Amino acid sequence: MGYAEVAVNAPVAQRRTFSYSIPPSISLGVGQAVWVPFGPRTLQGIVCRLSEHPEVAETRDVISVIDPRPLLTPTQIEIARWIAEYYLSPLFDALALMLPPGFERKLLAFYELSPGFSSSPPPNLTPEQSHIVGLLEREGRTAQSVLEKALGKRKARRALDELLARELVIRSQELERVKVRAKMVPHLRLAVEAEVARTEAERLAPRAPKQAALLRLLADRNGPVPSQETGTTPAAVKALRDKGLISTSDVQVWRDPLLDREFVFSPPVNLTAAQETALKEIRASLSQSGKGAPAAFLLHGVTGSGKTEVYMRALAEAVALGRRGIVLVPEISLTPQTIGRFASRFQGKVAVLHSRMSPGEQFDEWQRIREGAFDVVIGPRSALFAPQPDLGLIIIDEEHEWTYKQEEQSPRYHAREVALKLGELSGAVVVLGSATPDLETYHRAQTGRYRLLELPRRITARGEIPLPEVELVDMREELKAGNRSIFSRSLNRAIGETMADHEQAILFLNRRGTSTFVQCRNCGYAMRCPRCDLALTYHAGEETLSCHQCGYRKAIPEKCPVCWSRRIRYLGLGTEKLEDEVRRTFPLARTLRWDRDVTKGKGSHERILEAFLAHEADILIGTQMIAKGLDLPLVTLVGIISADTMLHFPDIRAGERTFQLLSQVAGRAGRGALPGQVVVQTYTPDHYAIAAGSQHDYASFYRQEIELRRQHGHPPFGRLVSLVHTHANAEVCRKGAEKMFQRLVERKGQEKLEVELVGPAPMFFARIRGRYRWQIVLRGPDPVRLLADFPIPQGWVVNVDPMTLL
Ligand code: ADP
Ligand code: ZN
Ligand code: ZN
Repeated sequence: MGYAEVAVNAPVAQRRTFSYSIPPSISLGVGQAVWVPFGPRTLQGIVCRLSEHPEVAETRDVISVIDPRPLLTPTQIEIARWIAEYYLSPLFDALALMLPPGFERKLLAFYELSPGFSSSPPPNLTPEQSHIVGLLEREGRTAQSVLEKALGKRKARRALDELLARELVIRSQELERVKVRAKMVPHLRLAVEAEVARTEAERLAPRAPKQAALLRLLADRNGPVPSQETGTTPAAVKALRDKGLISTSDVQVWRDPLLDREFVFSPPVNLTAAQETALKEIRASLSQSGKGAPAAFLLHGVTGSGKTEVYMRALAEAVALGRRGIVLVPEISLTPQTIGRFASRFQGKVAVLHSRMSPGEQFDEWQRIREGAFDVVIGPRSALFAPQPDLGLIIIDEEHEWTYKQEEQSPRYHAREVALKLGELSGAVVVLGSATPDLETYHRAQTGRYRLLELPRRITARGEIPLPEVELVDMREELKAGNRSIFSRSLNRAIGETMADHEQAILFLNRRGTSTFVQCRNCGYAMRCPRCDLALTYHAGEETLSCHQCGYRKAIPEKCPVCWSRRIRYLGLGTEKLEDEVRRTFPLARTLRWDRDVTKGKGSHERILEAFLAHEADILIGTQMIAKGLDLPLVTLVGIISADTMLHFPDIRAGERTFQLLSQVAGRAGRGALPGQVVVQTYTPDHYAIAAGSQHDYASFYRQEIELRRQHGHPPFGRLVSLVHTHANAEVCRKGAEKMFQRLVERKGQEKLEVELVGPAPMFFARIRGRYRWQIVLRGPDPVRLLADFPIPQGWVVNVDPMTLL
């Protein structure tokens, strides 16, 4: 008899598999999805290995196969095992990354009366049993959850077991239905012929112009129109509906990021010498991939140096060799231009994965990818797990972006590390691209783990050009000179000139809202989030205070809640206030704001970008959303309002983050036919991250930052693991952390491991959503080993290679 090692979808299973015997009626392969018994339940599982001998003496049978074809390849299973070991995550969580969308479903139990039931009415039923029998007689086949609701969970289960034992009822199982969250949007349509509507419109025009306009619009467009698009009023809709001329209905909508856009084929351009050299190396690796050491490249190219063109050529080479690619971008909605360029070059051969597709649509796309319908799959970090066959090339654009690390839920993986592993196992070439590589990436390129390819010059219509001039303004000097405005004299002048020349400007500020700090002038009390203890941000537009950590909102108090004083002051600067200041100082300039507060709706990112590209606004005001590789040819000025905002967080990557943001935002200027300039305002012009960022000097930044990392044993010189304990009670939280720390100290002593234990300590964000947070940090060459066989108790989160320790 054969046995299967199965990863079971149960939290207690953690990183191990369980042995099941395979009944003769079933034939099983690795990667197949099965139903298995687990305690009293039936759960989903994935076959990870087949063997002659079980790991335990007593095994139970696999119940049945869920899908006749294997859902995962042996490579994918190996990747999942690696993720589970490296990131200390449950094995099933890792496998789930690769399963078809909507796969994870529960098996629901149903009950009905036995066929022979009515002929022999059962004697001596308990009251609960008769209750159930009565229900089943009336309703027929009924879900267990319904019966449990009627009788209470315990009573229902006991009675059902008894009825089953007496064979009075039969039980069957059925998969839970896929929860499709359809997006419904109200639409308007004509209830009469178009001709009738036009005649009515004529008649209505003098008295009711709005109704007439709506009728004409609907007559011109045949079919339903989203009511928002009509720009009409509820009153007009009601009036026409009452007259029976139009009807309203909810229509399910779905926006494919590619379907509603047209892509003109963009032919390959003549490569520059630097691009040619880079491509040649990648080409050589592609043609011999699978043989010998796997190849990984770092394509370090300044902003606008033509990295995307290199990606597309490399992909074309891979396709010519009969292979396929995966391209990761930081966020789909923020990178429409990159996606558009791939879609134009590889027409009809691009699959875009995004979370706004319904589960059904995601599933269809997953199937088509598995069948090999696409040359390339583009998506966020999760696209790495698409079932792309014959994988030959993996590209990670803007590889320094933090969104490549999944931090919120298990498995807390980094797409870059997984891509390297996947490259190794599948023989695919990996290309990491960035103007500001992650420090660890660059260190690996320096030490030979990656091959370094460089594009040192920017390309524009004017040929290769230097990067824009950056002026660093010391805001302390502005104060001394009596300038208390948020604009330095330089920036003020530069904005004025840009507007006079009818060019565009970007102003960057990494904080939303109006004021970031609201305080009583009388007693000094500062308004804080009751759940997170963080200062609340004032949003003038909505007249509310809001917590940017948890979303808590409250109305602005008229009086100080402590001393009842009415003297409340608003400090700090956010993008909303910046926009007000711009309008006040440059009344003729048309502004557009791009931050999380204005991009809640669907397609809002694309709309803002399109409006700005079409020069419907002169000044774009934004947070780091505008730093993600946009190509805005009319922008000749970039102003960074405060370069210091990131710097003062006690975070291990504060310097790196500051440098990256400065360089990336500055890189938006001067990408078209016109030269660009950048003004950076700061109170700390001598800080190495700011000085190097303003010089576009990656090498100098790297030299200084890597030295600091070496001194502190921080990555890449030591690895970190963060253990976070959260609890609603402060004392319990602290005690739990101290106990855990003791256990870790003991374990370290037993195993004699080279690992440093830091903490336990309350975190910088000491409370979030009402839960206190204490942390222990493990630091060393291989800190994960200390936790390898260490059961992690409830209430703890383990994060291997965390991006931040705040
Ligand atoms: P990056 O991805 O490095 O930011 P892009 O690929 O966006 O740079 O290139 C910047 C601009 O230069 C784009 O408009 C692109 O079409 C153009 N470009 C890229 N390579 C060439 C080339 N070899 N010749 C002419 N223009 C090019
Ligand atoms: Zn007060
Ligand atoms: Zn909060």
